[in-house]
Amino acid sequence: MNKMAIKLFNKVVLTTLLCCSAISYAAQKPNFIIILTDDQGYADVGFNGSDDIITPNIDRIANEGTKFTNGYVTYAVCGPSRAGLLTGRYQGRFGFGYNPIIDPTDKMSGLPLEEQMVSEVLKPIGYTSSIIGKWHMGTHERFHPNKRGFEHFYGFLSGGHNYFPEDLIYQNITEAKKSSKGAGWYNTKLLENNQRVETDEYLTDELSNEAVKFIEREHDNPFFLYLSYNAPHTPLQASKEYLDRNTHIKDKKRRTYAAMVTAVDDGVGRVLAKLKELGIDENTMVFFLSDNGGSSKNASNNAPLRGSKGDYFEGGIHVPFAVRWPGTVPAGVDYHNPVSSLDILGTFAGITNAPIAKERPLDGVNLMPFITGQNKGIPHQVLFWRNFGQGTLAIRRGDSKAINSNKKGQHLFDLTTDLSEKNNLLKSNREQFEQHVREMKSWETELIDPIFRSLMSQKNKTNKKKNNKVKH
Ligand code: CA
Repeated sequence: MNKMAIKLFNKVVLTTLLCCSAISYAAQKPNFIIILTDDQGYADVGFNGSDDIITPNIDRIANEGTKFTNGYVTYAVCGPSRAGLLTGRYQGRFGFGYNPIIDPTDKMSGLPLEEQMVSEVLKPIGYTSSIIGKWHMGTHERFHPNKRGFEHFYGFLSGGHNYFPEDLIYQNITEAKKSSKGAGWYNTKLLENNQRVETDEYLTDELSNEAVKFIEREHDNPFFLYLSYNAPHTPLQASKEYLDRNTHIKDKKRRTYAAMVTAVDDGVGRVLAKLKELGIDENTMVFFLSDNGGSSKNASNNAPLRGSKGDYFEGGIHVPFAVRWPGTVPAGVDYHNPVSSLDILGTFAGITNAPIAKERPLDGVNLMPFITGQNKGIPHQVLFWRNFGQGTLAIRRGDSKAINSNKKGQHLFDLTTDLSEKNNLLKSNREQFEQHVREMKSWETELIDPIFRSLMSQKNKTNKKKNNKVKH
């Protein structure tokens, strides 16, 4: 062979080898399910030791799979946390710095179209996706789930919702906002894709019904289901059936909250039973987590963690988190190294070999090698948080955690000995704190300022007033 022929031969052989190894790796296309709860406390699942709220089905995800004892989300409230989860990237990279405004005329408040969501990553490799429940990624039509890789959407576009069907009265957000009754967008009828639907069930049950139907419809092909419950976010509203199963809890608020979690737990049970019934149990990976810590308004419990929703103490960002995939993900194992909601997309992409846009690299990693023990290293040397409006930066490097905040002060903790963040080491170790600050500030240079104004700036006092009441 002459030199040219040898070059060509090498190229063909190399390409074939690369191609075949990629094909054998990409052959795995399990179904993916993310079950996300809203404002659920760290301690409010059986698998984290809850002794009053009983969650046998959610616990199956941890007990028959791997429980993350240091599982984090990327923000301490709903919207930005979900933007991080759905893109696998720190949401500050694309200016998702607040809960988006609920306004169908606002073209900016939502997840920028250039960013790839899980559904958009999985679509080109043959997945069918559904989002059931809370969207919160923008209410303008350009942000609609059907335009973001989700073939199916059943739920509501805004950030919270009423639970009883008789309260869902408006055709759309504009009508809700104009209404003299002032009940607001929590009271819109649900949407199936672009159609308003009439419902007659308690909202959490309604969402669970749709999840089971979607799995039934799509089980022959790879699917991704994002089951995004708004429970147990306020308003605290539970049906009698679920309240009756929580009579052991005397405090009325806590009992109502517990009943809302019971409804989610039943839904999780129905989803897992459906996977078993259809014979796809061992071909389906299910993640469970909460979008942020328990809120001080919904009677949740984050013990032993300090703080709650909105805080960068552990109680705001360290959440119940587990993954189940029978036969593949180790069962009954606790994984202790810090992991992030960012890793969910990293894991899906790693398993399927789905392409990720080079100009938007993921911050998350594939957790599979770590949880199977193939990789003895740690998934993240460091995790960061920023709340732009609050002027807060936070970091966890190893077991050392620092918070540097205009509003909440300066803190340094050693989480190995002080998970409850009671002992501020700032004075005794200012040098380490300053090192963390330098690292946080360096990371912050990679972020941009928020590209839309916050939901908090959108006055909706009536809405709040109406919806914070406990209702049975
Ligand atoms: Ca939330």
